[in-house]
Amino acid sequence: MPPRRQSQKPGLSAELLAWYDVHRRVLPWRAPRGQRADPYRVWLSEIMLQQTTVQAVAAYYRKFLERWPTVRDLAAAPQDDVLAAWAGLGYYARARNLHAAAKLVASQMGGKFPVTAATLRELPGVGGYTAGAIAAIVHDERQAAMDANAERVIARLYAVETPMPKAKPELHAHCMALVPARSGDFAQALMDLGSAICTPKRPACENCPWQAQCLARKRGIQEQLPVKAPKMVRPLKRGVAFVVTDTSGAVLLRKRPDKGLLAAMLEPPLGPWEENFPSAAKAMQQAPFAAYWKKRVGLVRHGFTHFELEIEVYAAALAKRPKTAGQWVAPEKLRDVALPTVMRKIVELGLDEGGPLFTAKPRQEKKRQTTISARKR
Ligand code: SF4
Repeated sequence: MPPRRQSQKPGLSAELLAWYDVHRRVLPWRAPRGQRADPYRVWLSEIMLQQTTVQAVAAYYRKFLERWPTVRDLAAAPQDDVLAAWAGLGYYARARNLHAAAKLVASQMGGKFPVTAATLRELPGVGGYTAGAIAAIVHDERQAAMDANAERVIARLYAVETPMPKAKPELHAHCMALVPARSGDFAQALMDLGSAICTPKRPACENCPWQAQCLARKRGIQEQLPVKAPKMVRPLKRGVAFVVTDTSGAVLLRKRPDKGLLAAMLEPPLGPWEENFPSAAKAMQQAPFAAYWKKRVGLVRHGFTHFELEIEVYAAALAKRPKTAGQWVAPEKLRDVALPTVMRKIVELGLDEGGPLFTAKPRQEKKRQTTISARKR
């Protein structure tokens, strides 16, 4: 079905904005009513929200703002500090791109963010959706900011039955036809409607400002939309990790290469990731040094975008630190270093059968399984 023009449905955007004016969420990065949003804050939140929930992002957002209140402050920070502050939020390329973009804005743009969506896209880590959302929210540029919530709402409003992601251009066209002059509020209203009312399961249609016009509701197919693409079967990789402590309880960690998966983050010594676990004898050949390695009961499982990982963990406690590459991190500092979630799980299993290092005060994080192009709010 071709998209309707705004003139054919003059009430839709007005109805949504009227609902938003009453029900808008208060979010840490959202400007108070009537005030212009700060591009640094909007950009920071939009990068953090890629494929991550509002609940998980809020604490990280506050921490970043406290520590680096301006883009120049963030640009001046060492990358290791930025990665450490990001640890636990996942998709670590976002943190590296965030830092690179801050440096670009600070050094080449006089500390001022680009204004248009087209120029925002030149920043590292800013794709079409993020650029559109920032330009709409900060400058009311006429953009359809289609996150996962907005896509779901629009797919239902127009009963789009084309499977995702093929439906994206169609959804974008439908949305563009609705975008009013208050395009920033409209973008945020769609996000709020998708988060609070038009939820993936059991949408509260009786509270929806679009209930009278919604084609999916009329046909009773709202819960079936948007049609998802068949799930990709991800290969399973397996390997072993080695968690070693010294007499003070400090843990040996190493820095990963600057490029590739979890680049520049920390990890305990690891063996290669292959189709099967190595035998105990082969695992000992992969150990960083000879020691009394004891295999922990249980496994660490983690989902990456393109594969699943299972890790067996070997642990050893040493009376004397061996001469080996890496850094020894005290247990109370493990939370503050750039240790991604999968490595946290490994360290946790390696320490005292899953000691309380991270579980005492867990960070919120969802399982990472899908691509970064979508996000959840
Ligand atoms: S009527 Fe129901 S399905 Fe349609 S947009 Fe509103 S909440 Fe979503």
